[in-house]
Amino acid sequence: MTSLTDRKNAAISRGVGMTTQIYADRAENAEIWDKEGNRYIDFASGIAVVNTGHRHPKVIAAVKAQLDRFTHTCHQVVPYENYVHLAERLNALAPGKFAKKTIFVTTGAEAVENAVKIARAATGRQAIVAFGGGFHGRTFMGMALTGKVVPYKVGFGAMPADVFHAPFPIELHGVSVEQSLAALKRLFAADVDPARVAAIIIEPVQGEGGFYPVPTAFMKALREICDQHGILLIADEVQTGFARTGKLFAMEHHDVAPDLTTMAKSLAGGFPLAAVTGRAEIMDAPGPGGLGGTYGGNPLGIAAAHAVLDVIAEEKLCERADQLGARLKQRLAAIREKAPEIVDIRGPGFMNAVEFNDVKTKLPSADFANRVRLVALEKGLILLTCGVHGNVIRFLAPITIQDEVFAEALDILETSILEARG
Ligand code: PMP
Repeated sequence: MTSLTDRKNAAISRGVGMTTQIYADRAENAEIWDKEGNRYIDFASGIAVVNTGHRHPKVIAAVKAQLDRFTHTCHQVVPYENYVHLAERLNALAPGKFAKKTIFVTTGAEAVENAVKIARAATGRQAIVAFGGGFHGRTFMGMALTGKVVPYKVGFGAMPADVFHAPFPIELHGVSVEQSLAALKRLFAADVDPARVAAIIIEPVQGEGGFYPVPTAFMKALREICDQHGILLIADEVQTGFARTGKLFAMEHHDVAPDLTTMAKSLAGGFPLAAVTGRAEIMDAPGPGGLGGTYGGNPLGIAAAHAVLDVIAEEKLCERADQLGARLKQRLAAIREKAPEIVDIRGPGFMNAVEFNDVKTKLPSADFANRVRLVALEKGLILLTCGVHGNVIRFLAPITIQDEVFAEALDILETSILEARG
């Protein structure tokens, strides 16, 4: 009989990479079961999508209720009240004490595309500055903004023009805040007139790039540079948003208000929904019909997002993210005593990561991170790697994970790291 993997290989483009061969049968909160009945603890959350857990009862109830009323009208044709209401809620919740407006789209990449369109329309400028190691999606502008060539850009031809990259400040890798700011200054002197820059886009905690938090001093300096040159600041909160970092939005850690915020992933707890929220006058720059899309703000996603926001508040998920993250980091610190491969443990709230080097060469070891991931998978724990060097394991468990399941996962994590040492 042909295995599912063989069928997948025959039917699906290899361009869609897969990190496991587990075919999901059902999932509940922080656990997934496959067709054979094997059970896994999910520390990936579908890449940061189910902060509120798989099938949170409130999210499912809200979507079921919506399913029984209508599933699609296209808000541009026949609008619906809960779309407007969700915009009102996000306008009130997103960082920044100013009037805001929102649009809904379907994916994170689309949110980024639209933020760039809005920034260009509002400023009449063209250029965009992003950061090395950053990830902003797989559409053409998303790719251009992404600060990593392999696998995201290789073979895909010319990128949209007028996108520039500055080095992201990572002290651990020898780039200080001062050096990164100096490089930005050099970029403005050597490559692009800041008067032509529409926006600077940054992830408050770099996600795919390695879970590196932006130092507050850097974020504050960026805000000043933007204000000085009339540049808009876009916070890409697609991965950091919705309680993951211990705040609803990671920008709250810096007390810096971006002009535009992109969101997706955990916004709708497992249903496709994304948004751009920003200063009202900037959001109104594009003309009618310039923004939108057939599925943007799909009623099921909107219904789910309302429930997600309720659950985050009712279950105090920001506080819980801090508690879980503290336990995880404490455990990793204890493991570090026995595993010198661990060179860094970091991350705000429950957006945590551990970074590995080879003990002999002292160089980043993707091999070690991957070994840990595979051993853990064997033992029933789904982990994700990340980082420009691939040597980071990032932890993205649902923030609703039950204490006993979390404790079990931490034991598997410890054994896996120790076993990966050989
Ligand atoms: N921005 C960031 C910060 C992301 O982490 C991602 C997805 N990993 C995206 C944009 C793209 O989102 P999507 O895959 O939904 O298009």
